[in-house]
Amino acid sequence: QSVLLSVQNLKRYFDVGRGVQLKAVDGISFDIYKGETFGLVGESGCGKSTAGRTILGLYEKTDGNVLYEDKNIHELNEKDRQTFLRKMQMIFQDPYASLNPRLTVLEIISEPMIVHKVLNSKKEIEERVIELLEDVGLNRDHANRYPHEFSGGQRQRIGIARALALDPDFIIADEPISALDVSVQAQVVKLLQRLQREKGLTYLFIAHDLSMVKYISDRIAVMYLGHIVELTTSEALYEQPLHPYTEALLSAIPIPDPDVEETRERILLEGELPSPTNPPSGCVFRTRCAYAMPVCAMVKPRWIEKTKGHSVACHLYDEETMQKENRAPVKK
Ligand code: SF4
Ligand code: MG
Repeated sequence: QSVLLSVQNLKRYFDVGRGVQLKAVDGISFDIYKGETFGLVGESGCGKSTAGRTILGLYEKTDGNVLYEDKNIHELNEKDRQTFLRKMQMIFQDPYASLNPRLTVLEIISEPMIVHKVLNSKKEIEERVIELLEDVGLNRDHANRYPHEFSGGQRQRIGIARALALDPDFIIADEPISALDVSVQAQVVKLLQRLQREKGLTYLFIAHDLSMVKYISDRIAVMYLGHIVELTTSEALYEQPLHPYTEALLSAIPIPDPDVEETRERILLEGELPSPTNPPSGCVFRTRCAYAMPVCAMVKPRWIEKTKGHSVACHLYDEETMQKENRAPVKK
């Protein structure tokens, strides 16, 4: 598997005045392989959208590196930067807010092609737009209408068509289905999967819960308060979650069968997400963790590769720390 994108100790802090910094992304690292779907999951406010935007270079980084095909995206010359901006696209949560209401669908989807001067004649561009509309399950009759004439799901299809206009290799989808009706969500997911197969796309799929990501992602990183706390394959995350926060996220997924729902043990997250301007010392999750020990307030947990490809940041899995604490490491 070849690495398409490498995120290395990436940080993005915001100055919020009076010398206070909001540590939205506080040192995250992962590789995304060519052709895979990499899920990034966490509660709203955990920094996942900021991570997406910083990876894309829409936000300046505070520290760390993002390498795309081995090139540092924050240090590109202008020509490489233009190429990069074509290769990487974003799909947003709210397709309505991201589509200009005064432009027709044709104009909306043409825009990136005109900006990047990829096609010359008006006719070529129109033909390409119709192709793109058909790719996303719409057709030429939709081209001259305005965004308000479409349903939420159709608008997201228009957003996807626009993201595809420059023939990208990598797409960051920031909660692309969260604003849609449940019945429509599965359709949009299927569309994204089909497009991935047909066009060889790589996805970074951002979500606030684990319910749909399970089906879409090859691997998943769980993010909490600017940190990645667990990273593994989709299957391993569901079958053998390690981090207490992942367990809590998993138990929050509604199960449609009412009998199962009643007997299942729920791990509820207590309290609010702490402010990223004043994160807890040691382990950032400790204020809500049912397993928290004294060491958790003092020492930041190391990144432990528990089994091949399954890593976690939690003292429970750190044999050295647990020995010092005179406790047996948790065996899973
Ligand atoms: Fe909980 Fe401690 Fe593990 Fe953090 S390091 S998740 S507080 S047990
Ligand atoms: Mg967000």
